[in-house]
Amino acid sequence: MSAILPGATLGVIGGGQLGRMFAHAAQRMGYLTAVLDPDADSPAGRVSHHHIHTDYNDVDGLARLAGLADAITTEFENVPAPSLDHLAVARPVRPAAAAVSIAQDRLREKNHFVGCGVDCAPYAAIDAAEQIPLVPANLLPGILKTARLGYDGKGQQRVSTREELAAAWERAGQVPCVLEKLMPLDYECSVIVARGQDGQIVHFPAQRNLHRNGILAVTEVHPQNIPESVGRLAVNSAIAIAEGLQYVGVLCVEFFVLADGALVVNEMAPRPHNSGHWTLDACDVSQFELQVRTLAGLPLTTPRQHSPALMLNLLGDLWFPDLDTVGSPRGADAPVEPRWADVLALPGAHLHLYGKTEPRRGRKMGHLTITGKDIDTVRSTADFAAALLG
Ligand code: ADP
Ligand code: MG
Repeated sequence: MSAILPGATLGVIGGGQLGRMFAHAAQRMGYLTAVLDPDADSPAGRVSHHHIHTDYNDVDGLARLAGLADAITTEFENVPAPSLDHLAVARPVRPAAAAVSIAQDRLREKNHFVGCGVDCAPYAAIDAAEQIPLVPANLLPGILKTARLGYDGKGQQRVSTREELAAAWERAGQVPCVLEKLMPLDYECSVIVARGQDGQIVHFPAQRNLHRNGILAVTEVHPQNIPESVGRLAVNSAIAIAEGLQYVGVLCVEFFVLADGALVVNEMAPRPHNSGHWTLDACDVSQFELQVRTLAGLPLTTPRQHSPALMLNLLGDLWFPDLDTVGSPRGADAPVEPRWADVLALPGAHLHLYGKTEPRRGRKMGHLTITGKDIDTVRSTADFAAALLG
């Protein structure tokens, strides 16, 4: 298929911050954008040329999107796969429904990793009560995760015994789950790859991630913070996973690095990822530009990182300085705008806010990327920023 050139319209299903940054990248390159999202006030819808606000499986909404857009992508993994299949009859859809549907189901996802020869934590499917007594003892203590629809640590319960496992599965509503062995993590990292329809693959360097309460808090990227051999293995594993899916688009693969230095894959996201937001400010081509290029069938270029980078997620909690860490009010509960002007006075601080009008605890409102001449400078600037915000 020939490339879809600037001037055409690119569509995205989902109107969150990832869709917004996709729209910005597409528009900068001269494309028009169309967003389908049920929320009339969605972050991406507010910056797009076209905003269709229907449900993701609304046949009329999908037909309008296909009528407007020359090619269509997604910005979150829970877009119903049948909607993508439906759109694919009319327009190129990247990534394809087949790949997205594997990423939507933790069991199929893990089976895919194993099939690609990439190690993951030992696991077992739990979808019937009879399986619980048969679960291998070495999976405990473990984490019970719903097979579908989990994100930011939601849908997960830690269990130490078979009794706790049975109770946790009850609490999960007896939906299909995966029990995963609790691994001794040293730290977490992720790799973002982009694969074109001609099979060309490019990637960003492995990035080191810190989660708090199951939500990404900090990503740091510079050559010294992940041993070279671990970074290389993570990149090669992510490439194998993308190739195994015949994937077209941007894919993020998340890994655990264990206390003994071994690498195991955790999960994948069939889209740009929060841990890749730093690429907007510290690389010559961002994960969102690569999403545009893969969608439009343009050549991919190997990203070059031009600065060490540290990304801080800005959660809605920052708007409520009077809430203590467990969430009980110490004072006023009206949101207070954080001290952006002071933060922006710091050299190398790049502010991204997603245009969400209502700050809520745990809600991703924006992120701050810090760049600088070396990682020590970047870290101390980030410490200043955190103190100003915190
Ligand atoms: P989500 O889809 O919510 O991001 P994850 O499977 O990535 O779910 O789990 C969220 C976080 O929980 C991980 O980033 C990691 O910190 C922790 N975690 C998940 N699985 C395990 C495990 N098997 N062993 C240890 N920690 C885990
Ligand atoms: Mg995760």
